[in-house]
Amino acid sequence: MLLRHTSAEPVERTGLMINPAKTCQPIGAMYAALGLHGCLPHSHGSQGCCAYHRSALTRHYREPVMAATSSFTEGASVFGGQANLLQAIDNIFTVYDPEVIAVHTTCLSETIGDDLNQIAIKAKDEGKVPEGKYVIHASTPSYVGSHVTGFANMVQGMVSAFSASTGKRNETLNIIPGYVEPSDMEEIKRMASLMGLKTIVFPDTSNVLNAPQTGKFRMYPKGGVTVAEMKATGDSKATIALGPLASDLAARKLDTLCKVPCHTQELPIGLQATDRFVDTLRKVGGVSVPESIAVERGKLLDVMTDMQAWFYQKRVALFGDPDSLVSLVEFLVALDMHPVHVVTGTPGKAFEQKIRELTAHLPVPVNVKAHGDLFLLHQWMKKEPVDLLMGNTYGKYMARDEDLPFVRFGFPIFDRVGHSYFPTVGYMGGIRLMEKILDALLDRKDRDSPEESFELVI
Ligand code: SF4
Repeated sequence: MLLRHTSAEPVERTGLMINPAKTCQPIGAMYAALGLHGCLPHSHGSQGCCAYHRSALTRHYREPVMAATSSFTEGASVFGGQANLLQAIDNIFTVYDPEVIAVHTTCLSETIGDDLNQIAIKAKDEGKVPEGKYVIHASTPSYVGSHVTGFANMVQGMVSAFSASTGKRNETLNIIPGYVEPSDMEEIKRMASLMGLKTIVFPDTSNVLNAPQTGKFRMYPKGGVTVAEMKATGDSKATIALGPLASDLAARKLDTLCKVPCHTQELPIGLQATDRFVDTLRKVGGVSVPESIAVERGKLLDVMTDMQAWFYQKRVALFGDPDSLVSLVEFLVALDMHPVHVVTGTPGKAFEQKIRELTAHLPVPVNVKAHGDLFLLHQWMKKEPVDLLMGNTYGKYMARDEDLPFVRFGFPIFDRVGHSYFPTVGYMGGIRLMEKILDALLDRKDRDSPEESFELVI
C-alpha cells in the first residue's frame, strides 16, 4: 500500500503534477549526444542537474555515462554562465580530448538567458576549440517538453552543426531512429542492411550504451555516428524519421538546409508500424523486400496467432513516451487487447487525438491524457480496473498496490537489467514484446490457479 493516499475519484487539477510520466529535457539531449562518436555531452547549469542526468542514464543502461558540467554557483546564477562555459570548453578539450562537445542548457541557464550560439562562437574566436574539433549546442529548458523533446532538440543541433550539401546526391538513406534503446537502433540498421540499403543512422547509441565488456575503459566507445557521416547526411537521397516527436524536427531541418526530402512515421513497434517502415524503405530506397524480412514477418504473425487466445480483450493501462505509446497501442489493438487507460507526461494534444483514432472502434471507453501523471493513471485504474500495466520502472508501485502483472517498457527502467540489449522494434522486437506480455499474464494465471487447474501444458 505504498500509494495508499491515491483516491479512486479523479479531481480536475491544473497546477499540480503528482509523479510525472516524463523526465527532463537535458536527459534526452545527453542521450542523443552519446550517439555521436567521440562526443562528450556538456550540461550548462549546476552540478546537480548534470549528476541527475548522468545517474538516470547510467542506471537505465548500466554503462558509465560521461558528461561535463558548467558547474554554476551563485555567481553564474546571477551574472550568467558564459565565463564558466568558456573555461569548461578549454578544460575539456585539454583534459578529455573529445571530437565534439555537445552543450545543452538546463532550467537555470535558460532562465538567465545564456546565448549558447554566441558563447560557442566566442570560444572559437578565442582559440579554445582546437582545429578539427567542434562545439555543438541545443536549447533544452526543462520547464517545457520532456526528455523526448530534449532528444529532438539535440538531434536538430547535430544537423545544424554538421549537415552540408556538396550538391552531389547519393543513394544513402538517413534514418533518425527516435528515442529508442541502443538495441533498437541496431535492429533498425540490421533491417535496412537486409534490404541492401546504405544508411546513416543518427544518433546511434548502439555499441556506446550497450558496448561489450572488454576489460578496458574507453572514454569514447567505438559506436556512434561519426562527424564525417553527419556531414554526409546533406548529400543523402532521403531521410526517414521514426517517431514524429523525437525525429521530425531534425529531419525537417535537414530538408530545409540541404533539400533532403523527409518521410516521418511512427516508431516500427508491432506489425503494422513495422510494415510501414519496411514499405518506406522499399519505396524510398528503390529496392524489393527480401525473403529474409518476409520470413521474420511471418514468424511474428505466427506467434501472434499462437498467443492471441490469451491476449483477447485483456484490459491494459499504459504510460510512457508519445512516439512509443502510439505504436504500442496500435500493436495491442492488433492483438485484440483493450488499451483502456493511456497517459504520457509529454505535452501535446496530437497524442490524444492519435490514440483516440487508434482505439475508436473498441467496444470499451478509453481514457487518454497528454501531459498527465501517474497519480491520474492510478485513479483511472482504481475506478476501472485493468488486467495488465505497461510502463517504466515507476509503474511498479501501482502494480504492487493493485496486484497487477507489470511489463516494463520505455525509459527509465532502473530495476531490471538487459533491456538495452534486446530490441522491441521490428518484427523480431514484436515477438519479444509479446513474449514479455504473455509471460506476465501467464505467470499471474499460474500464481492464482487452484491446484486442479494448475496446468503443465497450456
Ligand atoms: S528539471 Fe531543470 S533543474 Fe531539474 S534537473 Fe532537469 S534541468 Fe536541472
